[in-house]
Amino acid sequence: MEQLVQQIEAYKQEMAAYEASTAEAVEAFRIKYLGTKGLVKEVMGEMKNVPNEQKKAFGLVLNEFKQFAETRYETLKSLGAQEDHAHGNQIDWSLPGDPVAIGSRHPLSLVRNQIVSIFKRLGFAVAEGPEIEDDWHNFGAMNLPEDHPARDMQDTFYISRNPDWLLRTHTSSVQARVMEKQKPPIRVICPGRVYRNETVSARAHCFFHQVEGLYIDENVSFADLKQTLYFFVQEMFGKDVKVRFRPSYFPFTEPSAEMDISCLICGGDGCNICKHTGWVEILGSGMVHPKVLENFGIDPNKYTGFAFGMGVERITQLKYQVNDLRLYSQNDLRFLKQFTGAI
Ligand SMILES: [Zn+2]
Repeated sequence: MEQLVQQIEAYKQEMAAYEASTAEAVEAFRIKYLGTKGLVKEVMGEMKNVPNEQKKAFGLVLNEFKQFAETRYETLKSLGAQEDHAHGNQIDWSLPGDPVAIGSRHPLSLVRNQIVSIFKRLGFAVAEGPEIEDDWHNFGAMNLPEDHPARDMQDTFYISRNPDWLLRTHTSSVQARVMEKQKPPIRVICPGRVYRNETVSARAHCFFHQVEGLYIDENVSFADLKQTLYFFVQEMFGKDVKVRFRPSYFPFTEPSAEMDISCLICGGDGCNICKHTGWVEILGSGMVHPKVLENFGIDPNKYTGFAFGMGVERITQLKYQVNDLRLYSQNDLRFLKQFTGAI
């Protein structure tokens, strides 16, 4: 028994002196002392050789020995973990971080937001409406006679006939819904997606985006229209841009005009974009037709107004020189990533 106790003391010293700098060394300690064939088990096996009257005292020694081994094992393990933390797994703050993939705004959204922001500064509110419309709001209220070419099946996607439900061909339907609910003064812009039954090509698509505007109040004149749109193009394209108005025809405005701006590519000298005229068309406009006002119970003798409409794709094309309309809806990352820096 005396010899066993001495042996135990020797093991304890050995354990106290044991150093483990790696996880493997800690595991080796466990196997050597605490494993199923380890020294603790081996010493415990000696119990059967201890005389009965000494069993109790030896039991205490054995217990204490086992606890010592376990405590030492736990200590080595936690030291090893700290060591790992301090050296092996230490974070190197100088390493470059994992990049976070951030999307970019779609060019059409960028330009639409810019258009909206310019008109908001002039006091225009944003109005929105449904993309599926009835005939009245899309055509009838807008003074589009029954035989107008825009009503042709070739141009309009009909969802049902009699009653007619269709995909709106312009956001004028939103203007109609505003005039239905609101009395003058009215000052709104209507951004949104519109649909036409066109063959998809670089210059035409079956859907595109518009921003239309409507201003109705007492004494609104064509001069107000011109100045509003002139302010818009200067904010959008810069102070050097020139504008011109050409007489035109729209069923819902009288008089009507299309507005051109001086070509941004060639500065007016003539190039492919402006078809060598020095001018590019950007929007349609005019004074709201008295019939349209009457359709909504607005007295045309008291109130006048102007309206305008532009294609967001057209403005984007001029701003970013995108010459194929299909690029906007193809989801090609090579195209979309070019707008990452824009806000
Ligand atoms: Zn040009």
